[in-house]
Amino acid sequence: MAYMRSSRPSAPPATAGEVFALVRDGAADTRTELGKLTGLSRSAVASRVAALTALGLVVETEDTQSTGGRPPARLSFDVDAGIVLAAAIGRSRSQLGVFGLGGEFLASDTVDQEIGVGPNELMPQITKRLEALIHDVGRADSRILGVGLSIPGTADTARGCSLDSPIMHGWDGVPLAPYFADTASAPVFLDNDANAMVLAERRDNRDHFQNALLVKASTGLGAGIVAGGVLQRGSLGAAGEFGHTKTAAAAGVACRCGDSGCLEAIAGGWAIVRALQNQGRDVGHIRGVVDLAVSGDPEARRLIRDSGRQIGETLAGAVNLLNPEVLVVGGDMAKAYDIFVAGLRETVYGNATALATRALTIQATTHGDFSGVIGSAAMVLDHVLSARAVDDALGG
Ligand SMILES: [Zn+2]
Repeated sequence: MAYMRSSRPSAPPATAGEVFALVRDGAADTRTELGKLTGLSRSAVASRVAALTALGLVVETEDTQSTGGRPPARLSFDVDAGIVLAAAIGRSRSQLGVFGLGGEFLASDTVDQEIGVGPNELMPQITKRLEALIHDVGRADSRILGVGLSIPGTADTARGCSLDSPIMHGWDGVPLAPYFADTASAPVFLDNDANAMVLAERRDNRDHFQNALLVKASTGLGAGIVAGGVLQRGSLGAAGEFGHTKTAAAAGVACRCGDSGCLEAIAGGWAIVRALQNQGRDVGHIRGVVDLAVSGDPEARRLIRDSGRQIGETLAGAVNLLNPEVLVVGGDMAKAYDIFVAGLRETVYGNATALATRALTIQATTHGDFSGVIGSAAMVLDHVLSARAVDDALGG
């Protein structure tokens, strides 16, 4: 791209992508404001707005409210300029969604699947349901800008596949993007479920999510970490996989990963189900245990509170390391929020330093069961609507 000479030698002139970011965020809605914020000349603003309008991302409307003189044209981000597809793949249930470019739900669906189902069985079902959803909402002609997927366990974001998952049998190393070849020519993005969930929270409240920790407590355990405003994946994408951290209380207890002594072996949803089954109780999933706890079953309540306590003990170390402003609790166990968080709060505050927890807020996910799918869509939008992606689309 050819850079024009700038009157501000310290900063290159704002690109069309950067101008779009100002319109998308609502920071500017007229050409005059764009000129003020960017320092661009009227003609430079005009050429960028023209490019964005041609791309369909920005629309310009006459302000009919204005009286006298020539009314200023209002610029706005056209959230109807396309759609994104998202799927939060779980072990026994997957959430699907079609979203507008503002990240708003247009349609959603749930797929209940057998535990242990492989990608060759599940992925075609997911693409078929997504295609049906697009038709249902009358958006068959819309441009699909991207597809977002989240999976439990570690995601290899570069190759778009599961990595060394102890639970997603048959998924490791299988690239998921090719399953969408007939549905969309758009890019497919993949991440871990807890990472997607923390993005869903941040979407609504970026200021409060510069340093955030999200714990997903379901059948398995996972965490999403935002530090300094950036999602942290670690060197191999395994950041936040704290379920198989060894903990003294689990010494000698067999874990589903093949090892023993893991936190999950005493605090994961599957371990709680196992504990109740060993007492002769008829439960098959952590969601059933949560229902029992909420309806007052003392043993279910005790197990969920204990899980919160054990998880909090391990998370206290992360709170000391990261000093987050918010700890978000999501996953199936978050539906017994008061019970689970009573245990969690006790050990997080008891084991982390007073300073690391002084300004810490503990809260539930905003979107409940839809957290993962909303976050998967947010991940796509962060990519395809970024200033750089827009400049790339304009052939910058
Ligand atoms: Zn383990």
